[in-house]
Amino acid sequence: MKTDINEFIANLERRTPGENEFHQAVEEVVESVWGFYGKNPRYQRAKILERMVEPERVIMFRVPWVDDRGEVQINRGYRVEFNSALGPYKGGLRFHASVTLSILKFLGFEQTFKNSLTTLPMGGGKGGSDFSPKGKTDGEIMRFCQSFMTELYRHIGPNTDVPAGDIGVGGREIGYLFGQYKRLKNEFTGVLTGKGLAWGGSLIRPEATGFGAVYFAQHMLHRLGKDIAGQTVSVSGFGNVAWGAISKINELGGKVVTLSGPDGYIYDKEGIAGDKVDYLLELRASNNDIVEPYAEEFGAKFVADKRPWEVPVDIAMPCATENEVGLVDAKELVKNGCTLLAEASNMGCTAEAVGYFHNTIDYAPGKAVNAGGVAVSGLEMSQNSMRINWPREEVDARLQGIMHDIHDTCVNYGKNGAKIDYVKGANVGGFVKVAEAMLAQGVV
Ligand code: GLU
Repeated sequence: MKTDINEFIANLERRTPGENEFHQAVEEVVESVWGFYGKNPRYQRAKILERMVEPERVIMFRVPWVDDRGEVQINRGYRVEFNSALGPYKGGLRFHASVTLSILKFLGFEQTFKNSLTTLPMGGGKGGSDFSPKGKTDGEIMRFCQSFMTELYRHIGPNTDVPAGDIGVGGREIGYLFGQYKRLKNEFTGVLTGKGLAWGGSLIRPEATGFGAVYFAQHMLHRLGKDIAGQTVSVSGFGNVAWGAISKINELGGKVVTLSGPDGYIYDKEGIAGDKVDYLLELRASNNDIVEPYAEEFGAKFVADKRPWEVPVDIAMPCATENEVGLVDAKELVKNGCTLLAEASNMGCTAEAVGYFHNTIDYAPGKAVNAGGVAVSGLEMSQNSMRINWPREEVDARLQGIMHDIHDTCVNYGKNGAKIDYVKGANVGGFVKVAEAMLAQGVV
């Protein structure tokens, strides 16, 4: 090949200075697909990879709003429309103080491959704002969402770009965003997913990311002749993804012993089950973004300012945010007997941690493990187009089928002796479909 991999990465870094999370996400994919790319002159001639790392469109805008004291606040809004080769741009909106263009570009880039893996007709996109719902009142969140949508509405649509939730954007925010879109366009359409059940939402969507992640982990375990029943699991985060994962792990006979937040982690050796799982919903609705109250409520141990990876477990499932498992955490997990890590957060492990897992335990990346969330978003779009609602069993059966197929794709493209390289499997599996579609659609 004319360009070598180092030159490719150097070019990317030169063109996108300081976008570290984006570089990390691209490097991982490029390393996985480079050999395959090298054997396909058709892709090289069409500069498929060079085009894939350039978003089709980036929209950035001012979001002014008025807080409860009457003071004017200004945030920045974004939508990164990354790749529409397979369908309308699709991906969540993240509202969090840490949001930058680099983070949304990494998420939009990952989303393209994740959505491809689901087999549903969805391109990749991501958006959000540096607005933090933490400590805000309902009225403030509503006014922010309305102002955000007052600009975003002209760029999206059910056949163009269909946003959904992510960190800081749940059912409440989707409701306010949808209301404003409907008002501005005078149209009731499936322009967002994660909607309420009474107004176009899909059953299982709130649980889908967590459920799907556990279905995926079960497939990894079954391949090794094991099962999740009887296994101890550590989970990070306490939001929607953690909640769905914990519910499903309990149902399948596993035991979850940790949760975490920006304030630290809780260790509940009895297991997080029953009322304790419902309590997570209260904790999230409080808008305080801390887990410590769980420890007070249920007499569990709280460890301030630390992550849960020092707790000995059989399985780890990060469910919070990017780079939440570093090399030191990875070594600690393996040393304490953890044999499998299924990443439910997007890019939950640093590149160093992923490298360490490669030679030690079974590890699968977020773009495969957490694809159940966007998959059920895709099913919500189908139901909206048909103007019907499928029953719970139907959505769950489709989700299970999709997670099974994603696992098969990873096994198919990721064979590495007796082991499966899930990183390579997910990246190559996701890449092939997007590449073929881009090739067929010409230089656009
Ligand atoms: N934010 C979720 C993700 O990372 C869901 C996106 C969607 O449903 O469109 O995949």
